Amino acid sequence: MIGAALGRGEREHRAVQAELSDALAAEAFIAHYQPKISLATGELVGFECLARWQANKRDLIAPDVFIGCAEQTGQIHELTRQVYRYALTWRPPDIGGKPLKYALNLSPLNLGDEDFPRWLFEECKAQGIAPSQVILEITETASLNNPLVLLENLTQFRIRGFELSIDDFGVGYSSMVQLARLPFSELKIDRMFVKSLATSEESMKIVSAVIGLGHSLGLNVVAEGVEGSQALELLYRAGCDQAQGYFIAKPMSHQAAALWQATCGRQDG
Ligand code: C2E
Ligand code: CA
Ligand code: CA
Repeated sequence: MIGAALGRGEREHRAVQAELSDALAAEAFIAHYQPKISLATGELVGFECLARWQANKRDLIAPDVFIGCAEQTGQIHELTRQVYRYALTWRPPDIGGKPLKYALNLSPLNLGDEDFPRWLFEECKAQGIAPSQVILEITETASLNNPLVLLENLTQFRIRGFELSIDDFGVGYSSMVQLARLPFSELKIDRMFVKSLATSEESMKIVSAVIGLGHSLGLNVVAEGVEGSQALELLYRAGCDQAQGYFIAKPMSHQAAALWQATCGRQDG
């Protein structure tokens, strides 16, 4: 039902809502963790926490299937809280005395939830996590079109010490003017450009230009979707700050991420 639900009639809408309600009640929404590394040092800097629906013991449903539905039914607010609470419960060991960062994905609809910044602040406090360890990734979409409302909403996170990242940069609606005006501290280059880096001169030029733009605005620049050593090398040479992708590691359960960190992530003794 869930996969075919978008854009269907009232009956389907209610069925999807009921299915999501059951999953929420069962606390079936969890997170998987994908390492983010520094290109300068090769060191692990944090994890992106990606939503998963644990439908049963073996089956994990990907976010593309349910996030859009939850946005349509209005259940995205509860779902986001459930995923975040799960994601922040795992505490990876510090690296070189520096606590690792959690990158969390935010739906543009979450920005309309006035209580959310306060809720997240309290949640972090309860878990002993500093807000500066949390980066909220927001996809640049048409909803970023009203800069004044957006600025007010984003500021609510910034004044509490959270970092903000603009996700999927290059495929959406952002303009340089907006980027400079809004309180982002990080820019993530969309994986579409990273994928063709080694084979397309055009992609290489775009990526280099985006890295330059990000740095000139004082932003940390991250490349996602790194699938090979060549792309990693090119990004390093182009001055990109951080990278993420299957070549480094796929998103994993926290048990697998802990093992990965212990064997590949260079942690303290
Ligand atoms: P995203 O934020 O752009 O996340 C990156 C996606 O790329 C993830 O897909 C990740 O598994 C995948 N990926 C990572 N490395 C590679 C690579 O080297 N190659 C390729 N081809 N793919 C790679 P995933 O986990 O299926 O998430 C899809 C999208 O769902 C995310 O895209 C994000 O927009 C959304 N999403 C995930 N979790 C949440 C959440 O908690 N809340 C909201 N609102 N959206 C979420
Ligand atoms: Ca993301
Ligand atoms: Ca992305």
